[in-house]
Parts: sequence; structure tokens; C-alpha cells
Amino acid sequence: SQPFADRLARIQPSPSVEANARVTELRAQGRDIINFTIGEPDFDTPAHIAEAAIAALKAGDTHYTPSAGTPTLRQAVADKLARDNGLDYTRDEIVIGAGGKPILYHALAATLNPGDEVIVPAPYWVSYPDLVALNEGVPRIVICDATCGFKLTAKALACAITRKTRWLVLNTPSNPTGAVYTAAELDALAAVLRENPHVGVISDEIYEHFVYAPACHLSLINVAPDLKARTLIVNGASKGYAMTGWRIGFGAGPSDLVRGIVKLISQTTTCPSSLSQAAAVAAFSGDQAPVREMAARYTERRRLMLEGLQSVIGVSSFAPDGAFYVYLDVGGLIGRETPTGQRLRSDDDVVLYWLESVGVAGVSGKAYGLSPYVRLSFAIGEAAIQEGCRRLGEACRALR
Ligand code: PLP
Repeated sequence: SQPFADRLARIQPSPSVEANARVTELRAQGRDIINFTIGEPDFDTPAHIAEAAIAALKAGDTHYTPSAGTPTLRQAVADKLARDNGLDYTRDEIVIGAGGKPILYHALAATLNPGDEVIVPAPYWVSYPDLVALNEGVPRIVICDATCGFKLTAKALACAITRKTRWLVLNTPSNPTGAVYTAAELDALAAVLRENPHVGVISDEIYEHFVYAPACHLSLINVAPDLKARTLIVNGASKGYAMTGWRIGFGAGPSDLVRGIVKLISQTTTCPSSLSQAAAVAAFSGDQAPVREMAARYTERRRLMLEGLQSVIGVSSFAPDGAFYVYLDVGGLIGRETPTGQRLRSDDDVVLYWLESVGVAGVSGKAYGLSPYVRLSFAIGEAAIQEGCRRLGEACRALR
């Protein structure tokens, strides 16, 4: 008999985590790899944030906290939402989790009944469909291709909604495409949602600080405040403050939904680390200059990346308005033959060819629900970006 529950068979290990692990393995074998698979900032956590954790440790702040998070951190998040997003939330409408992913997990586990549908626009962040499936929901994938800027249109949303739809997951700025929804686009989606009062919205805004002018970040609630009562904002400290390892995320939504999520957290993780919560207070309420500095660095890296990719034959980039990824169209390489006589039939083949021939690692678009693409992260050093693009040029030139 098999040792695992059926639910484990419904999900895959995270493909981006796996791709990154493969890079680590190859480097351990002595291979020189340019790693474009990384889904996290390469910067250190700003010093004043780390200092706050050290101070909390020295002050003996080493105990359980309330499951919703410390009152100070919940207030800091409410203040942050007012300052950065112009949104009005009270402390009891905020829940702190051990990362944005656990907030998503707990929100879905707390609200999905078997068979409930969740609309997930593709390309999607790899975890959405699996978190839905894990909680016995049905991911309803809606392909949003390059012709609509990889964004969900009102028409596609209207077609995807059924009586069973529980949630729409919106991710702006998007991982993996960097697409950022405009006010007009959000407005059009809001109109459809108003006609469907049974559909809630999970608005994942974890990349909000990294947007490239003239794009700007907007939450659905900014353009449709009337949808606030059925929207859960998911965000956190991981990307904006270079704090992925600290594991702090938050949800902001109606207080009854928040209470349900907190009830579940009280029986799973209990609370996020007390020290990380103290650090997150400093992140959300302290000096915001480091965030702007990191955003400026990504702006420059994005420029280098787009410039470098221009001379790579057979690929075309969609200039991202946000986040730190380029979702590269590799359709022009499909059907070509490598110097060793292998035909490239899929984005998986392209990823493998680049890795083996020139030591460049990316993640296949297959993982994000739209092929043939490769996601390249520019959360790596400027020199590596340039060298990586040079190698991609070399690999693509060698194809027949
Ligand atoms: N949402 C998106 C779109 C992400 O890309 C990620 C991380 O990769 C997360 C949420 C989760 O972030 P965290 O590390 O806070 O769990």
C-alpha cells in the first residue's frame, strides 16, 4: 500500500525551487552557471531591519505571539497600507503569516469546499494551482497570452465564472511575466465582479514595490473600493524588503475572513517567528529608502537584461512593467537543431540546451502554464546579467 494521502499526488514540487536546486548541484560539480532561476532578491536585508530583530532577541522577545501576529505588527501593516496604498484597514482586518505563501494556503484551506473553483489566470505563479488542488478546490486556468499583455480581460473573466467560483486570484505585478494591471483594466474586471457577488478576490501584491515607470502599482481596491468586503490582499516583507528567509507575509481583508484564517493558523504554525515579526515592524514602519534603492537597482538590471536579450536570435522579450522577471518568448527556437543534433521541441528542451551548452539556467514556461517561454530573473548581479545574455546569444547562434 502506498504511504501517502491522495492529496499529495495532486501537487508537484515547486518547479522554480527545483530548477534552483539543479543549479546548486551543477555548481557543486564545478560548473560555472549563470543562474536566472532565482525568485528572490539577491540583496541583504537592510541593516536597520536586522538590528530590530537583534534588539528583540536581546530583550527576550522569544515567546509565542498571538496567532494573528503581534498587535504592533498588525498596526504597522495597517499604517503601511494607508501610506503606500491609500487603503484604510484596521488592525483586526490584518493577519500575519509565515510568508505570503502560508497566507494563501491558510486562506484557501479556510474557505474552499471540495469542488469549489478558483480562477487562476495563466501564466501564473506556480503555487496557485497546487495550493488550490491541495485544498480540494479546482483551479480554473484561464490562458492570458501575449496579445493581451498576459493579463486577464473582463471578457475572459466573465466566461470563466461559474456558480462554483469561490475566488479569482489576481497577481499584480505578476510573477512570471511582470505584467501590471492598469486602472482601466482593473475597472473592467471590477464591473464583471459586481455582477457576480459570490466571487471573492485574492489580490497578490507581493511585488508592489518593483514597478517601472510609467507603470504604477494599483490594488483592485484602489479602483473598486466597493469590492473591499470580498477581497483578500496578500502581501509581505519577502520581496520588497529582501526578507525571504524571515518568513513574514500578511493578509488584509474582512475581519470575519481574517478570523477564520487566524483560527486555522492557531492549529498549524501557531504564529510566525517573534523575532521576524519584530524585524517586519522595522521594515514596514522604518526608513523606506532601502526599498527605493533596491527598486533603482532592478530598474537598471531590467534595462541591461532587455538590452542584452535584444541581440539574442530567436527569442523575443515582453518588457516587464513590474517584478524582476522577463518572460521570454522562445517560439523562434522551437524546431531548430542543436550542434549535437538534438531538435528543440519545447521550452523544456530550450532550458536544458542552454544549461548544458552554455551554463545558463532559466525556468521553463511550462511551469507557469504558458509555453513556449522561459522565465529569466534579473534579481542577480549586473555583470552576471550581461554575461548570461552573451552566452544565450552564443547558444542561439549555434542552432541550425
Ligand atoms: N506570491 C508570488 C507571486 C510570489 O512570487 C511569491 C514568492 O515567490 C509569493 C507570493 C510568496 O512569498 P513568500 O516568500 O512571502 O511566501
